[in-house]
Amino acid sequence: MHIGSHLSFSKGYMKMAKDAESIGANAFQYFSRNPRGGALKEFDAADAGAMVSYCKERDFAPYLVHAPYVYNACSADEGLRDYAARSMAEDLQRQQEIENSLYVFHPGSHVGQGVERGIDQIAKALDSAMFDGISTTVLLETMSGKGSEVGSRFEELAQIISKAKYGKYIGVCFDTCHTYSAGYDIVNSLDSVLDEFDKTIGLERLKAVHLNDSMTPFNSHKDRHAKIGEGSLGLEGIVAFINHPKLRDKPFYLETPNDLDGYAAEIALLRGKAV
Ligand code: FE
Ligand code: FE
Ligand code: ZN
Repeated sequence: MHIGSHLSFSKGYMKMAKDAESIGANAFQYFSRNPRGGALKEFDAADAGAMVSYCKERDFAPYLVHAPYVYNACSADEGLRDYAARSMAEDLQRQQEIENSLYVFHPGSHVGQGVERGIDQIAKALDSAMFDGISTTVLLETMSGKGSEVGSRFEELAQIISKAKYGKYIGVCFDTCHTYSAGYDIVNSLDSVLDEFDKTIGLERLKAVHLNDSMTPFNSHKDRHAKIGEGSLGLEGIVAFINHPKLRDKPFYLETPNDLDGYAAEIALLRGKAV
């Protein structure tokens, strides 16, 4: 099983690989840059190269690079849409330097413009941020549907993919907290949710899972992550999820409210429950 957690990129690439190893992880996620925005760090090729060989030797899952939360590809403000598209382009160019990586972003909030318009704007932003020869798969994250978020319905994600020029290189990151909050009952009806995902988007596009419990009830359209087993999904539901035959080979990334010791404990717990 490939499982790991979100890690801090502040001390560089190799430090993350070692942190991952120290908590029993063989997968990890990090922010491309400060989650509230700002410039990309200067690229340290030696450090990145060291991480790549270290993780390759240990058969790690793809590095999952998360875009900053500030990007809104479907803002009503054209300047903010452009900022999101340009920054994504920079992030993706940076990832050309690191083999075996995935890039996940929140599709955005249409802020009253309507879902249809939001979808068009997101597809357009992707067209300008992606390029011929891209080596990274870009993942749309399943969202909880708080406020005017786009991407809480599988149909919306499917439409973005089908409208985007580089749709072949676009996949989905399935966030268990968000999806459950959005009204997909992955605890009591996991098979039918996966069938629906498969019919709408295609399970082969599901490239990564954000494994989180939720502080809020089913269908609450909130986005509050809980530690594994301490939320409304519960340990049993999460264990069934990671062991599902259609999901067990996907990489799992914890985004639970934990420090490294907490992540180590959750990873050990889940490895112990993997069949
Ligand atoms: Fe996210
Ligand atoms: Fe997430
Ligand atoms: Zn979240």
